Amino acid sequence: MRLILLGPPGAGKGTQAARLVEKYRIAHLSTGDMLRAAIAAETPIGLKAKDIMASGALVPDEVVVGIIADRIEQGDCANGFILDGFPRTVPQAEALDALLKQKKLKLDAVVQLLVNEAILLQRVENRIAQMKERGEAIRADDNVEALAKRLEVYRGQTEPLVHYYGDRRMLATVDGMKSIDEVTAEIGRILAAAAAPAPAKPKKPARPKAKPAEPRPAKKASPAAKKAKKTAKRPKSVKSAKKAGKPAPKAAKAGGKGLKKAAKKTAKKAVKTRAKGRKRLTKRR
Ligand code: AMP
Repeated sequence: MRLILLGPPGAGKGTQAARLVEKYRIAHLSTGDMLRAAIAAETPIGLKAKDIMASGALVPDEVVVGIIADRIEQGDCANGFILDGFPRTVPQAEALDALLKQKKLKLDAVVQLLVNEAILLQRVENRIAQMKERGEAIRADDNVEALAKRLEVYRGQTEPLVHYYGDRRMLATVDGMKSIDEVTAEIGRILAAAAAPAPAKPKKPARPKAKPAEPRPAKKASPAAKKAKKTAKRPKSVKSAKKAGKPAPKAAKAGGKGLKKAAKKTAKKAVKTRAKGRKRLTKRR
């Protein structure tokens, strides 16, 4: 399990990380804790980071990326890790992507804790008061001015990561104003969903076999259509009918041009014959 906890200072990242470490047996990588350890050990990195951290500003990207690159190589990270306070800028997120790709590792989730800033300030003030009561050392950046600066830096440089991981569909948001237990339970649900195997793609339903085409019921032609069909098929003249090897047109049967001629001939003949007959009769008389 590899995840990032994203949220402004005082959102409860550290508290939730401690619970997740127990539950999943993974390493807790807090760049803030590592830098504080470096300051305590007075290493070159610690000396470089000391004043920057006290002011509430960010330590240079290459410094924290170098720390994380070394840290995830260690044995306790083999089972996974929680990144708390890293990445804090887009270049850090890009460097982390490159690191993970190089090591053939992938992130399971990025969980953002959403909190109300006014309540956040009150939470930090309460925490400072409690630490003082217990006689504990107070962080150099745990004061109102440094906190205001840290919140400003968060809005300007870290919040763009919400879009960075949102665009990659890796971001899950939790209401950080709920109780610690409720937030833990919600993160648990997110991580369970992230670890679950992706649902198999639904198979395309098999195409139904093509039915043999049913014969279409013959349409009854309207009388007008019938007439139009007949006229269209019928050749116009006897000549063209002969050419086409079709029956002679109706008009020809009923007295077309050709028959009209024949009828005239016959009529002439009849007139002649009748005239001859009359002549013969008059002769006899
Ligand atoms: P934190 O304990 O996470 O609130 O971090 C405390 C301070 O450490 C921050 O205000 C920064 O000055 C420094 N720091 C921690 N993590 C980073 C980081 N990823 N990039 C730059 N500075 C960091």
